[in-house]
Amino acid sequence: MRPSRDTVSSDYIIIGAGSAGCVLANRLTASGRHRVLLLEAGGHDRNIWIHIPLGYGKLFANPKVNWLYATEPEPELNNRKVIQPRGKVLGGSSSINGLLYVRGQPEDFDHWRQLGNTGWAFADVLPYFRRAEDQARGADALHGVGGPLAVSDVCEPHPLCEAFIAAAQAAGFPRNDDFNGARQEGAGYFQLTTRNGRRWSTAVGYLRQARRRPNLTIACNALATRILFSGRQATGVEYRQEGALRTAYANGEVILAGGAFNSPQLLQLSGLGPAALLQRHGVEVIADIPGVGQDLQDHLQIRMQYRCTQPITMNDVINHWRHRYGAGLRYALSRKGLLTIGAGYAGAFLRTRLELATPDVQIHFLIFSADAAGGALHPFPGFMTSVCQLRPESRGFVEIRSSDPAEPPAIQPRYLTSRHDRDTAVAGMILMRQVMEQQVMRRFIAEERAPGPHCASDDDLLAFARETGTTVYHPTSTCRMGSDPGAVVDERLRVRGFDKLRVIDASIMPSIVSGNTNAAAVMIGEKGADMVLQDAAGRP
Ligand SMILES: Cc1cc2nc3c(=O)[nH]c(=O)nc-3n(C[C@H](O)[C@H](O)[C@H](O)COP(=O)(O)OP(=O)(O)OC[C@H]3O[C@@H](n4cnc5c(N)ncnc54)[C@H](O)[C@@H]3O)c2cc1C
Repeated sequence: MRPSRDTVSSDYIIIGAGSAGCVLANRLTASGRHRVLLLEAGGHDRNIWIHIPLGYGKLFANPKVNWLYATEPEPELNNRKVIQPRGKVLGGSSSINGLLYVRGQPEDFDHWRQLGNTGWAFADVLPYFRRAEDQARGADALHGVGGPLAVSDVCEPHPLCEAFIAAAQAAGFPRNDDFNGARQEGAGYFQLTTRNGRRWSTAVGYLRQARRRPNLTIACNALATRILFSGRQATGVEYRQEGALRTAYANGEVILAGGAFNSPQLLQLSGLGPAALLQRHGVEVIADIPGVGQDLQDHLQIRMQYRCTQPITMNDVINHWRHRYGAGLRYALSRKGLLTIGAGYAGAFLRTRLELATPDVQIHFLIFSADAAGGALHPFPGFMTSVCQLRPESRGFVEIRSSDPAEPPAIQPRYLTSRHDRDTAVAGMILMRQVMEQQVMRRFIAEERAPGPHCASDDDLLAFARETGTTVYHPTSTCRMGSDPGAVVDERLRVRGFDKLRVIDASIMPSIVSGNTNAAAVMIGEKGADMVLQDAAGRP
């Protein structure tokens, strides 16, 4: 690596221009009083497929915008390695995600508060969800308008989704037209982070507005490799850009927003983490913080596949040039149609046991079928449901493999290591079959292709989950907020025991939220920005 003498000095250095990082860059530069350097390992978000919602499927294997991580062999998943896509581009994972807007349950945040995190109960975080939001349906007590994050409805109903929602109702679950409303339970359509059929990443919503400000510098293709310290105070960041090693100093704070894999990795590379791990890889230990990289949580999805009786699925559009062309033309002319949909069209939040207070599984209803995420769609009409346990007990880790910042960390979610998680996965699949057996849905089902009728017992279903289960891309909690010895940041997101160093991204969640994680990461960016600004102004 060519050493470089050029140094930059600013008030704040933000590492990572992802869901939370772009929020921070916007909010911290808004007053004009603070100079901010935003470091992003990836490039600009110019790839057209980022901005067309359906293009999501094209970004799974693109190394220009995706870190393309994978787990270690997962012991409870027949030692399979599970893909772990992460955005490596302005907007981070919000530029490549499935666009579903689901905040989680109010109880998730009340639980964070109960764990001792003052200021993180639902009533505390709701104003930040509302501040971020530009809700196409208008404002109410739970939703905001005028914020940088556009949220809108799917453009039109789909007959399969209608049947799915009706089948859920026939099976005893309510219809729900707002999963972020007063009650999460039920079946309905998802809302998406889109506007006029275009993706609304945080790069689009927050950064486009902020990048014109003279006090914001955005450095793309800049990989932060080490945080610099003076004693227990963060002073700057070393990063690689254009083949040179550069140094940036912060008069104010260094803020990690690299996401649930990269933030703990960078802390470990910088000497903050489990001492034995760091020593094993020749990293000088600055502080033995056992929790850095621990408590990894993720949602495992188990996809059930159905062959459809009618050619009304996305498979039928994508696999026939005339329909494909028609869909493209429709999108070009009206920004409507299949190109506007995200990872799920409709979905449901269900309780696998009636005695539960809130749903414990999420269903994504997908109007296409494929054997792998991002893989070729089946050459016949097909659709899928994905069953996800919302609050897994299994805990994993992220650990550096060497002192080389370019080497991906070892990622081990340890899916299904908890008995409770295995039981819930099976119960979720059984519930899904109950919904699919309803008359209104049955007329669309030629066959359940997977797991298939031969999978009848609980053991069969668990074997199917082990053989096919994969991530739904929600890693969290690897720099967990709390006050116990395993926690990494305090309730103001400061790395415990250090000055001028915070982590503000999905890795700080004390426990994973019961839904999709982008909205919560944006909320964390909003709230974290307020904390940084309050501290700068000398307030408690
Ligand atoms: C394929 C996929 C589908 C998903 N679908 C949904 C969905 O439908 N709905 C939903 O709510 N959530 C979804 N998610 C999850 C959601 O997008 C993430 O939880 C959220 O974006 C995480 O935000 P973050 O700020 O923690 O990290 P990220 O958004 O991942 O941002 C981290 C950024 O930091 C950069 N970075 C990392 N390390 C360094 C370094 N050392 N130097 C410089 N830059 C660095 C990265 O390149 C990246 O840009 C999905 C995620 C994926 C990958």
